[in-house]
Amino acid sequence: MTRSRSLRKTTTLTSATMGSEVKPPASGTLTSPDRLRKIDQLREKNIDVILPLPTLVAVGDQSSGKSSLLESVTGIPFPRGQELCTRYATQITHRRDPEVQIIITIIPAPQSTEAEKASLRSYRKELSSTNELRDQFVKILDEVNVYMKIKTDKNPEGEKTFSRDILKIEKCGPTEDYLTVIDVPGIFRLTSKGQTTESDRHLVRDMVTGFIKDKRTIILAVLPANVDVMTQEILALAEQYDPDGERTLGVLTKPDLVIERSAKEAVCNLVAGRKKALNLGYYLVKNRGGDDDDDSDDDSGLRRKERDLFQQSPWCNLPQERVGVAALRERLQDLLGEITDKAYPELRSEARKKLAEARDQRDALGPPRQTEREQQQYLAQIAAKFQQIVRAALEANYSTHSVFDEHSRRLITRVMGIVDTFNDRMRRKGHTYSFVKMETEDSDDDSASDADDGEDDDPFSEAEQEAAQRNESYFKMARRLFPELESIINMLEQPEFAVKHDNSNWIRNMYLESRGIELGTFSPIVLASAFRDQTTKWGPMTEYYVSTIIMGIHHFILSVLKGICADGKLYEAIKSIIMDDLLARYANGLNHAKFLVQVERETKPYTVNHYFSSNLQKSRGDRVSEALKGKRIWDGHCHSGGAYVVKFDHVKSAITNKSNTEHAQDDIHDILKSYYKVSRKRFVDNVWLYAVDHHLLSGPNSPLTLFSEQWVLGLDEDSLNAIAGESRSTRDKRKELTKKIVDLEEALRILK
Ligand code: GDP
Ligand code: MG
Repeated sequence: MTRSRSLRKTTTLTSATMGSEVKPPASGTLTSPDRLRKIDQLREKNIDVILPLPTLVAVGDQSSGKSSLLESVTGIPFPRGQELCTRYATQITHRRDPEVQIIITIIPAPQSTEAEKASLRSYRKELSSTNELRDQFVKILDEVNVYMKIKTDKNPEGEKTFSRDILKIEKCGPTEDYLTVIDVPGIFRLTSKGQTTESDRHLVRDMVTGFIKDKRTIILAVLPANVDVMTQEILALAEQYDPDGERTLGVLTKPDLVIERSAKEAVCNLVAGRKKALNLGYYLVKNRGGDDDDDSDDDSGLRRKERDLFQQSPWCNLPQERVGVAALRERLQDLLGEITDKAYPELRSEARKKLAEARDQRDALGPPRQTEREQQQYLAQIAAKFQQIVRAALEANYSTHSVFDEHSRRLITRVMGIVDTFNDRMRRKGHTYSFVKMETEDSDDDSASDADDGEDDDPFSEAEQEAAQRNESYFKMARRLFPELESIINMLEQPEFAVKHDNSNWIRNMYLESRGIELGTFSPIVLASAFRDQTTKWGPMTEYYVSTIIMGIHHFILSVLKGICADGKLYEAIKSIIMDDLLARYANGLNHAKFLVQVERETKPYTVNHYFSSNLQKSRGDRVSEALKGKRIWDGHCHSGGAYVVKFDHVKSAITNKSNTEHAQDDIHDILKSYYKVSRKRFVDNVWLYAVDHHLLSGPNSPLTLFSEQWVLGLDEDSLNAIAGESRSTRDKRKELTKKIVDLEEALRILK
């Protein structure tokens, strides 16, 4: 912040009072050469692909003189007379090294395929001097065109006009200083027929903005002095990405081609900062022109020509630190130093962040798995983890895994909740008709509840309704999320829960319509059919609740599986291979529940449970008490404090004034009532024990035990490879990430 403010201050001063008294910052005052060297080390490791590094980028219209400028600044002799403009970005790096040499390589575009990258990376040329480079440059560029697949006359097989690959030229030597500049293709407005298309235009613009949008890039806006600066698209583009003009430097080229006095004056105004002020100002340089002798003019010859030119009017009146390649070069080094100082701390934190990201991404891919054994191990590990979670889920041991933070995965708790509701619903609403309730009936244990809960005017409590609604919406969600379940479970609405109230009429009707020749008793068939009538809801209710449990289990299995699989592909593969078996196991559970319903309802009513006879006796007793109720008298003289008493004669009449039919009906009712309760309890318990616990939860063949290490070991090679084998892209991705991690670790070491 302080730095940028001071920078702006300096440059505002510069542009406002441009004169010989204002000097650009002296070389070295702001710059730490050590840091520049480190940045260059990073660049050497190609870190700038991952982490944008402080850079100078020359941008401008076609033929504005970018390449020529870079030749002037770097001494790399770009071949002239190229009939077409630059087709890719060229990065020229200077590196201090005891050995003098020029190394030419290609940095592949990030979006290239692995094969392309390998081919591009294989290109390398080493030259011992600029002269050697000059001799070979044309040949080298032809080769590069072939590697980058750029279509030219010499490379008609090429496929593209422009490439996002970068040509990298490293100039090493003991006296080189740290300066890196990038030459990008020129922005062109007109698409020339047969050569460049609209999409090329976009690509180039994209490439250019890709370079200049980073705040660590200094934009060298290259503008030919012999045309109107205002017509140059590049200034507008630079302004878009650097609105404060803090990192845009104007470089005017071709001063020797400016003829008219007024044109010269306009250029002088710009350089002196009197017009179209850029914060960093304008520089004026002369590069090698088309008329300059090719080989005879070496670098010093050209600089002499430039000096001669700038000694002429009006250029000689300009501030000398603003004209000439040498002055520009010095300024560029300072600017790069400033930007580097500013970027340095950020680079470190950014590298750390990117490193953490890359490590996460690599971890998410899991270990490499090419061989059958690797695949098996990998999958077995996942299965073991899954089984651990299953065990914890069944033991309600939720603190062991973070998967349980999500409450819908707390399996056993959820299941117990459903089982409780099922039990309660069965107790209160499981029967078709309400049983007769004797007024004298004790309301001990829960024996009273069958009758009094059967009332229609006993609506569900708020909590129950809420639970019902929750179930409903859960069903809706499950239908949407798990359409695969539709084939086996009942995903319909909640079953009808209402209990009918016509007291004993239904027994009477049924008895009258199905009795045979019976004397003073009734056939067990009547009882069986009464029981079936009374239990018509058991089937739908049981199916409904067991279905709910299956959905809960299914949800648990899939969401845990998804959570522990490294990627969506692996999860999908496991899921699709286990799905059929899973569904079969759910079906087993559900079928067992249906079987239990069938057994209870269709076998002849019988029980060895003594609870039945004690209930029955109690019912009969209640019936007698009920009959005698009208006849009772309060006897307050009793020594125990008072009690109801009945006259002995009344007892006889009370239980003998009923017809055979009435007796039979009462008997059927009482036996049915006692048996129903025993049967219902047995049934609900059995559903829990066999259908739910054994078949669906903890039995050896429950769906939860399916995806196990055992299962993995049983997979054949093909299935194993289909599930756990790596796609080529995963392998490539891991390789790429591994390289990125190594690079970033190295970057952090360098930045230390
Ligand atoms: P680019 O397309 O922006 O890279 O432009 P080039 O660097 O290829 O230059 C285009 C033409 O302008 C070439 O013929 C250069 O020799 C010429 N040129 C560049 N700078 C100057 C200069 O300062 N003076 C003269 N006379 N010609 C120049
Ligand atoms: Mg060029």
